[in-house]
Amino acid sequence: ESTVRLHVRVARLGTRFVLLLAEDRTEAHRLDEVRRDFVANISHELKTPIASVSLLAEAIDQAADEPDRVRRFTGRLSVEASRLAHITSEVIELSRLQARDALRRDVLVDVDDVIASAVDQNRVVAASRRIDVAARASSGAQVYGDRSLMIVAVHNLIANAIAYSNEGGRVGVGVKVEGDTVEIAVTDQGIGIEADDLERVFERFYRVDQARSRNTGGSGLGLSIVKHTVQNHGGDVRVWSQPGRGSTFMIRLPLAETATPPTDDDDPVA
Ligand code: ADP
Repeated sequence: ESTVRLHVRVARLGTRFVLLLAEDRTEAHRLDEVRRDFVANISHELKTPIASVSLLAEAIDQAADEPDRVRRFTGRLSVEASRLAHITSEVIELSRLQARDALRRDVLVDVDDVIASAVDQNRVVAASRRIDVAARASSGAQVYGDRSLMIVAVHNLIANAIAYSNEGGRVGVGVKVEGDTVEIAVTDQGIGIEADDLERVFERFYRVDQARSRNTGGSGLGLSIVKHTVQNHGGDVRVWSQPGRGSTFMIRLPLAETATPPTDDDDPVA
């Protein structure tokens, strides 16, 4: 279904006041377009692994007498299967973010605790690539929001920092209160991002270098989820990067002390 907003305005006509009702078609139209793009992208993203799965199944069938080949194909089959599972769960996360009133934004969330959980979730992957994740989380900051979504957002930034670092690299996670906002920064010394790509990395399904990014098994949805999550919480996310030197992604959220608890009629998609 599409969202249609009614604008109500009182206008003066001579000596009389009239009530004007106008349907905001532009907003409805924009949302329709966003949805159509999204569906087209998902279909495209799912087609490749699905095609691979059926090709591999066929190949396994034909290689039945050769255990080595069967093993190789089944290995690739399970890689494709986890890729499908990963994309599916990210798509679900993203649609949850785009659904109205899906967020429990009236709840107080401890930012240090969010960071600790997100770092924890990345421990195994970091260790497997001998990457040191150093987190300093003692801000005492609190924000209004959805704790599990915030963990997903910070998790995605840390996971990227690890994925796009060289083995043995260093990832730093810091948090500080700045005026009426809290800033969460994730810094890596990895491959960095070219200036042309910087603005686009938050787009759905955008990957800087398809071939290179595919090696990391990503879907191109991670940063889009980060962006939607922080915007949903009244914040923003920014990135600085130097190709070959590394990147810093920073999430800024309004502190609970100063923020008014958000209301349900904020548009999460806008
Ligand atoms: P993916 O699942 O491909 O990682 P994301 O939406 O998380 O998708 O990121 C989009 C693209 O931005 C990635 O494919 C990668 O090219 C680039 N990127 C994201 N984070 C970093 C980083 N820390 N360092 C370098 N490149 C990054």
